[in-house]
Amino acid sequence: MRATITLTAAQQASQAARLAQVRPELAAAYGTALGRWIDDPKLLLLGLPIVTEGYRSPAEQDALYAQGRYGLLALNRLRLAAGLPAFPVGSAEARRIVTYKRGGQSHHNHQPSWALDVAHLQADGSVKWDNAALLLFSHLLLAADARIVWGADWNHNGRTDDEHFQDWPHFELVG
Ligand SMILES: [Zn+2]
Repeated sequence: MRATITLTAAQQASQAARLAQVRPELAAAYGTALGRWIDDPKLLLLGLPIVTEGYRSPAEQDALYAQGRYGLLALNRLRLAAGLPAFPVGSAEARRIVTYKRGGQSHHNHQPSWALDVAHLQADGSVKWDNAALLLFSHLLLAADARIVWGADWNHNGRTDDEHFQDWPHFELVG
């Protein structure tokens, strides 16, 4: 028996809204890669790819930049100003550096966005960020459009072990 993973109507709407905020070439390549993934039962066992973020406002970017760099009070002030929920006291995520880009510097900050982030929805409804699954998805997405660069292989040399900073869920269009 194979578990099937389907999006709810609300999830379908949010996926469409996120993709509508992404550059058409990138959204098209994502659609191609998603189609190939869904057609492969072995890949589908790893979950259904979803876009967790496309466009990100400069204020949200500044709040992400503050993670791991600012104290909780200053960080949460930026998060609330950007419309993001505050981190609880003791949050490990609040102390983790997740980006090296300030507001306006990320490919996510363009309208439409030049970048999107991917995760995998599981049959139980949870969302998983799994490097092995993202590596397999990267093969499909980069095959769909050679201008796409993956955040786990910034220098585009087919290796993920020679990067200064890895952003596994992140894909962006260059040029
Ligand atoms: Zn990203």
